[in-house]
Amino acid sequence: MEKIKNYIDGKLLEPKSKKYLKNYKPATGKFYSLIPDSGKEDVDLAVQSAEKAFFLWSRKTKRERFKILMNLVEKIEDSFDVLVKAESEDTGKPEWLTRSVDIPRCSENIRFFATASLHFDSKLHEMDGDAINYTLKEPIGVVGAISPWNLPLYLLTWKIAPALAAGNTVVAKPSEITPYTAFLFSKICKKAGVPPGVINIVHGLGGCVGEEIVKHKSVPVISFTGGTKTGKRIAGIASKQFKKLSLELGGKNPNIIFSDTNINKAVDWAIKSSFLNQGQICLCGSRIFIEKVVYEKFKNLLVEKTKALVVGDPKEKKSFLGAVVSKNHMKSVLKKISYAKKEGGVVLTGGRRIKFSGKLKDGYFIEPTIIEGLGYLSKTNQEEIFGPVVCLIPFEGEEGVVKMANSTIYGLSASIFTEDVSRAHRVAAKIKSGVVWVNSWLIRDLRIPFGGMKSSGLGREGGFYSLDFFTESKNVCLKIDSKT
Ligand code: NDP
Repeated sequence: MEKIKNYIDGKLLEPKSKKYLKNYKPATGKFYSLIPDSGKEDVDLAVQSAEKAFFLWSRKTKRERFKILMNLVEKIEDSFDVLVKAESEDTGKPEWLTRSVDIPRCSENIRFFATASLHFDSKLHEMDGDAINYTLKEPIGVVGAISPWNLPLYLLTWKIAPALAAGNTVVAKPSEITPYTAFLFSKICKKAGVPPGVINIVHGLGGCVGEEIVKHKSVPVISFTGGTKTGKRIAGIASKQFKKLSLELGGKNPNIIFSDTNINKAVDWAIKSSFLNQGQICLCGSRIFIEKVVYEKFKNLLVEKTKALVVGDPKEKKSFLGAVVSKNHMKSVLKKISYAKKEGGVVLTGGRRIKFSGKLKDGYFIEPTIIEGLGYLSKTNQEEIFGPVVCLIPFEGEEGVVKMANSTIYGLSASIFTEDVSRAHRVAAKIKSGVVWVNSWLIRDLRIPFGGMKSSGLGREGGFYSLDFFTESKNVCLKIDSKT
């Protein structure tokens, strides 16, 4: 049985405890590798190593850091096929998705921030000839990066890349549910000549390894992506030490369909935004608000197309959906579907676990599920499910739909479908979320400010917003003496 190792100070190490956790393949339910069950001692070692490395890494020129990061990109691309297969096996998501999204985005994150750091500049404030203020953007120190299981390497590199490009070093904790590509990434860092201690990856449980990183006195910056409940706990700990904190949290995103839209196209977008990655993307649209006059038409087409989706072996191209990430998560999603029925929801299609025969017989597969008949304030329409489940809600009038869309504690993203440009602007302005798409979903430009309002997060990541977050601004004021 393969043992995943921690990556500390440029070395692949066993956890101090010598204890391991089991890692499962979601598509088969079989356990196939062992994950270090690390603890405080491992985190301490990683932080020490990152602190030591910070001294040299932060003093390198931007150009030197750029070269090392671009070397890392090259080595990731050399391992492309291995990473594609590994990410699919570890998460249960289709291989076509890891090939087209997860792994390309991983190298793109690093390329993007390596390049961006060369263009990152700062402001100068001139005071009518009396003085000049200029702002220095300095690296901060050791960054704690904690990432979730839904886009494992994609989100891990989304944090590591800007932190390093800005001159910091990192102690990262991937989700213990999907650790495998982070392990492969450690080996790639070694090959790429990333100096020891610049990137450290400690595997283990969130409540232990994650929390030790957050608590650590020598980690002044925390970048976290995960659930809102965990984010709240992390904020409580980090704020007591006045740490810099970025939180990318959960969502319950509205998808608003106005009657003037092209229904066929809107249904196709809704299929993607509801079921891509088995609905396990923080940006998935889990509540579809449909204008009453087109409700039946939209619903019937959506149900028809959803029934035609293939759920199956992640290795097969025809599988639009693979397995959900873990047995526990499958149980949680199925429980939420049962609760929706108890609340009075009607399941239009899906709703059950799929049991295949053969090698996938113990896999965690769930039918793509559409539910109607629940009020917008029902528990099902207020709480995150994070699976292949979407609810339909009819509406009349702009004001009404904005009120319903804004009714949850979340505010991550929204999609609006309409041919009326003025309406698109009006509604976008009133929606309380960090990202709004019009006539689309998940079009991502890495330069934009990305993040959520309300309980969906704190701060923004992306482009120079990330580089701002991972640097400390220092103003230097220079008095200019007047000639006498
Ligand atoms: P969790 O909050 O359970 O976990 C996220 C990470 O935090 C994991 O690495 C986890 O470790 C770790 N963790 C858990 N408890 C603690 C703790 N007390 N201190 C420090 N770290 C801890 O989220 P999930 O992994 O279940 O991910 C799904 C959630 O992430 C959803 O709510 C989704 O909406 C959100 N998300 C948000 C995104 C955004 O950009 N806004 C993007 C992607 C996902 P372990 O796995 O070992 O428990």
